[in-house]
Amino acid sequence: MGSLFLRDGIVDGRPQDILIGDGRIQRIEASLDAAGAEIIDVGGKLVLPGFVETHIHPDKAFIADRTEGLRAGGPTAQTLVAELKRQFTVDDIYRRARRVMELAVRHGCTTMRAHVEIDAFVELRGVEAMQRLQKELAGTLDLELIAFAQEGIFHDGVTKDLLREGLKRGLRWLGGCPYMDKDQRAHIDWFFETAQALGVPLDFHADSSDNPAMLTSDYIAEQAIARGMQGRVTLGHLCMLDVLEPAQRTQVVTRLREARIHVISLPATELHVKARTDTRRTWRGVARLGELREAGLNVAVSTNNIVNPFTPYGHPDLLRQALVTAMVAHLGNLDQMAWLLELVTTNAARAIGVEGYGLAEGCRADLVVLDARDAAQAITEQAEKLYVIKNGRVVARNLRESTLVIHPRP
Ligand SMILES: [Zn+2]
Repeated sequence: MGSLFLRDGIVDGRPQDILIGDGRIQRIEASLDAAGAEIIDVGGKLVLPGFVETHIHPDKAFIADRTEGLRAGGPTAQTLVAELKRQFTVDDIYRRARRVMELAVRHGCTTMRAHVEIDAFVELRGVEAMQRLQKELAGTLDLELIAFAQEGIFHDGVTKDLLREGLKRGLRWLGGCPYMDKDQRAHIDWFFETAQALGVPLDFHADSSDNPAMLTSDYIAEQAIARGMQGRVTLGHLCMLDVLEPAQRTQVVTRLREARIHVISLPATELHVKARTDTRRTWRGVARLGELREAGLNVAVSTNNIVNPFTPYGHPDLLRQALVTAMVAHLGNLDQMAWLLELVTTNAARAIGVEGYGLAEGCRADLVVLDARDAAQAITEQAEKLYVIKNGRVVARNLRESTLVIHPRP
């Protein structure tokens, strides 16, 4: 593998050269010698580690045109999609998911952890399609797969076995969805027992509603501690914390921190799906990210859904999700935007255990170069991702051209 030299990029606020070889960052320093490497001049542009999607559903992407949208009193997004899933073929899933991944790479994503739905409707067809993509895109995008029970596990006699089969075929995470079963604790128990037996980490879609009686994240944290799985559980959504009384919320957050739970917020979907029946003071439905971060939790943001009834305008561009987050989570002050991109880079990588990740010597050369000086400008202007680099090789080069003509007074 040839070596690559990024000249004069902005790293941690300072101009630095980056020398890349053997797929890794060899050196980061001001005024390095290019030493025969291929040179890319990125003068004054922000260099970040590649974006990391931690919670995304490529298998049910691009199906908004196959069904109706959400409306008050109408079927839920889960119901609409469950019906469509019966018709999914391996090739159909493959084509739609591939489109998601190509878009994600073009927009700076170098690692993606995706949910693969496994249930009586779609059986293992998603597993087959996504594993095909995992192999085909291996040099371009690291794809981690979650065996995910979107429909719950107690409605039929096959889902539990199919989930175990998915793990046996090489999926590396197990994903639950407690609110899809009547007995949420029994659901959570089964996932912990199965994850322990098979030695895999866990992800839950958790506390998505505004009904505190349905709270599960405290129980999940308790179980993670009791079973020695601290740091090996990620939770998506966590919208419900927002409606708890502050004293109870503090208790839950303390427990989540003890369990080293990673929180993944999905703001675009929350904004589209939540609070459909509110007649005033419409609930935002997004996890209180600033507060959770302040409390010492590892928080990340991810895309979740792409062009389906959950998020008809969903798009796997994490810079866009950062802007949505700034808007909806009151994180748009300059000092907040300075760290907001950590939620789609370093924090996200930590949540899913990506090794050798970051902008330091010895780390994997998974990088994105943005057409901006700093994070705030990148978010505000939705800056172009000029280069996306995976394992030390350019996998996307993007240019945005525009011509502005200032005319004299006519
Ligand atoms: Zn999801």
